Amino acid sequence: MSDPAPPRPDLARPPARDQARDLARSMGRCIRDFGLVEEGDRIMVCLSGGKDSYTLLELLERARRRAPVRFELIAVHLDQGHPGYDGRPLERWLHEQGYEHRILREDTYEVVTANVPEGKTYCSLCSRLRRGVLARAAAELGCTKIALGHHADDAIETLMLNLMFTGSLGAMPPKLVSEDGSIVIRPLLYCQERDIAAYAAAAQFPILPCDLCGSQENLWRKQVKQLLVDLEARVPQLRQSMLAALGNVRGSHLLDPHLLAAAGVPIPEGAAPSAPLRAPITGEDVVGSTPSAPSPATSARRLPLVSS
Ligand code: SF4
Repeated sequence: MSDPAPPRPDLARPPARDQARDLARSMGRCIRDFGLVEEGDRIMVCLSGGKDSYTLLELLERARRRAPVRFELIAVHLDQGHPGYDGRPLERWLHEQGYEHRILREDTYEVVTANVPEGKTYCSLCSRLRRGVLARAAAELGCTKIALGHHADDAIETLMLNLMFTGSLGAMPPKLVSEDGSIVIRPLLYCQERDIAAYAAAAQFPILPCDLCGSQENLWRKQVKQLLVDLEARVPQLRQSMLAALGNVRGSHLLDPHLLAAAGVPIPEGAAPSAPLRAPITGEDVVGSTPSAPSPATSARRLPLVSS
């Protein structure tokens, strides 16, 4: 009888140390390219309880310890009152790891279910309420920036969804300054979701379920995700190419008069896209994470924040 085959290294889950190093490099590049972190920053890291936000918090903490600039982190988690929610594992983890943190409680679920007509998705109102709560918390906590855990795959999926549903060409900004002055940053935009997932699995973060709201909003995002997986089987460099395209826009080859003007193409003063080129529909319900900054004004009502 022949010897049993030697065990093979599980390449899908390399040591967390290597994953952390690669992700940290990608995040560092993004931070440098867009000036996301500055001396004296106090950054509020929005911790949803998903793999992306845990990873963001840990990578930023690693960066903070080594960075030549001084900055602070505070993790903020929002309990939105979804049925069956149990945030205790997340709170325990934050305590055990020693992160400065706040747990906010605001029943946006009740507001959403009371205001969204039957059959419509909750996400548009839900995310506006959440952004409002978080922006207000950032101001109250003296934070200079709000960090979100969106990654490269989120960006290219949003690009696809915008193309398909909103008649606009855009993904997710790495840094966005809103009218009220709050600054949202997305340091993981150069990181791939599969690397984050592998890192989170190795780190054994206490992930909270993300489907408690019962909304079907993510249906199209899931289909676009699958479409990208299918295409990637035939075009292996698909994701890298799409991500690179976001940083390599040829304004002179598009139909936007502002971009043409910026590219030095003479256009009539006050030119605007004609009717056939205007967005046929507003697809915020589908796209969900439309690139907008949190604004306190978007909060339908102001409830007292409960924090710990
Ligand atoms: S899926 Fe939609 S409704 Fe549910 S928590 Fe997220 S944004 Fe809110």
